[in-house]
Amino acid sequence: MAKRAMRVIVARRKQIVFLLGVFFLGLFAKVANAEHPRDASNFQGKHPCARGVRSSTPKSVRDVSEIVRQSESVRANGAGHSWHPGLYCPARGGTRVDLLNVRSVESSTRWILDERARVVRADAGLLTRDLLDGLASRGYTLPAFPWFIDQTIGGAVATASHGSSLRAGSLSSQLVAVTVVLADGSVEHYAETKTSPALFESLRANVGRLGVVVDVSLRVVENSRITRNNEDIAPDAFVVEMFHVQAATRACAKQYPDDLKAQWSCAMSKPEVRALDETQYFWYTPLQEMSRITFQREKPGALNFTAYDERSASSALSSVNFGSLSSGSLVRDSPPRARDITSPVTLMGSEGMASAWARTWKRATLLNIAPVTDEQRDSFLSMTEEQYLLHERYGYEQLEVAVPFTKAGDCMQAFKTALYDDRELNLGFRSQALLRFIQPESAWLSPAHGRLGTLYINIEDFVKYSRVFDTLGNPRFDAAVAILRGDKCDGRLHWGKFGFPKRGCFDGAKEYGVSFCHFGCQVSRLDPTNKFLGDSDALQFSGIDFAACCGADGLFVENTTCKCVLNDRIPADQC
Ligand SMILES: Cc1cc2nc3c(=O)[nH]c(=O)nc-3n(C[C@H](O)[C@H](O)[C@H](O)COP(=O)(O)OP(=O)(O)OC[C@H]3O[C@@H](n4cnc5c(N)ncnc54)[C@H](O)[C@@H]3O)c2cc1C
Repeated sequence: MAKRAMRVIVARRKQIVFLLGVFFLGLFAKVANAEHPRDASNFQGKHPCARGVRSSTPKSVRDVSEIVRQSESVRANGAGHSWHPGLYCPARGGTRVDLLNVRSVESSTRWILDERARVVRADAGLLTRDLLDGLASRGYTLPAFPWFIDQTIGGAVATASHGSSLRAGSLSSQLVAVTVVLADGSVEHYAETKTSPALFESLRANVGRLGVVVDVSLRVVENSRITRNNEDIAPDAFVVEMFHVQAATRACAKQYPDDLKAQWSCAMSKPEVRALDETQYFWYTPLQEMSRITFQREKPGALNFTAYDERSASSALSSVNFGSLSSGSLVRDSPPRARDITSPVTLMGSEGMASAWARTWKRATLLNIAPVTDEQRDSFLSMTEEQYLLHERYGYEQLEVAVPFTKAGDCMQAFKTALYDDRELNLGFRSQALLRFIQPESAWLSPAHGRLGTLYINIEDFVKYSRVFDTLGNPRFDAAVAILRGDKCDGRLHWGKFGFPKRGCFDGAKEYGVSFCHFGCQVSRLDPTNKFLGDSDALQFSGIDFAACCGADGLFVENTTCKCVLNDRIPADQC
């Protein structure tokens, strides 16, 4: 009897040891091939990529090259500060390439400044804030920069991110050189003065479609002193100002037909247009109040740029630092679920509270816009780190459209009327709209491309995520967006933000005309297998025969057989 009991105990022990062995082996296997620490979604854990998307954290350009070479579908990822998953997610089973730790620039600071050339070269994965603070310590800054500076500098360039400037433009216009890992894993460095315009204008606002950018070189200016002022302005008065801008630019367009350069110098000779340079407006929509923020430079000539010639610049600005290949597995599974860092705030949804929220936001913003004379880095508007931390609390979508100056009056009139007429669209807003101005831009995919000055209007939807289960959405906000995207405004969407329509409904060829196909010519050359297409059809060029229609200069040639028209888009009335 005792012997039998002993045998049972021994057998049980063996069983337990075996099970423990299996458990620890499993655990070991899991740790050895651990999931990637960052989920595949945006900064708030919203808009996740499809299941099966893999993630990588390369450290060197050689790592990036190896990952790109081995993967069939790749999308570069910066800090995730955007809203279009189709553009930051690769196709299912593809790989996100996280740029945050990639060292391309040979410097412990991750950037190198050539003071004589007035150019800084920075790792694409460096945060804009860190670059600005580093430059300020050397007495320099970027000529103009976004309100938000916690994105990567490579991500900001990729999507034509911008502040407000009619002379320096978006960060894409400030780009003078770039290093890219191409679809076959090769690494190329392109400089403004040594690269065909067809290609460089594609690289400026590349939206990740041409490859993985590992470093960018940008113009810098002295961090000189600027006085910031603000004043209250009524929405009615603002609309009148926009009508003046519309009339002035329409007159210039008429005076110099088919010559955008002459039209723009005509426009900049008009005080009502010039007054918008560096100016920004906050529109506290539910309050029917606005602030105008203006800047006065102590050195007005600070933005006179000379052409950048890389041949006479320091060799550190052009030599590529490949680094070494990291050991171990570079590509890992993404966590199966996105971590949503926000939670619903029911009070945010209440229309009765719209004004109270807007007042709270305005009070906070008045600190950002208070009159001051300081160096440009601090005088220009930017979100503080404390304000950034609030992103952990309130979930939202941010959407921005680029409206041509030639429609600015009609558009703002329509927007204002809809906000305050009997539909009361203002009740769909909580935070203020931010309005900024950009000159005509050369980058094919800059929303300011080919237009005689652009009014950017940035709006946010905090209502959608205020409910635990949302079935209602925010119809008032959606109606306001329809106006900004409609005929009155012709607003083009910011590539890094919310609002892209469902598959088949975004027609880049209609929105951008032939410049969309100039970009397409470079895509067909550099990415023939569509490795960088991503999980969206926004930058897919169906039905266009680039082999037959791209000229020797790399530009799309329109003629009777070559038309920049996509053949797979859903008619607008079904979208
Ligand atoms: C709170 C907030 C405020 C914002 N304010 C502004 C503003 O004031 N002005 C403005 O213009 N924009 C603003 N943005 C938009 C933001 O600048 C863009 O979405 C920017 O692209 C985000 O950069 P990221 O590094 O987070 O890139 P991600 O969000 O990771 O990627 C955005 C896009 O860029 C591509 N990309 C990123 N890195 C690279 C790379 N190295 N090579 C190739 N492609 C790359 C990605 O593939 C993707 O298509 C704001 C965003 C947020 C979240």
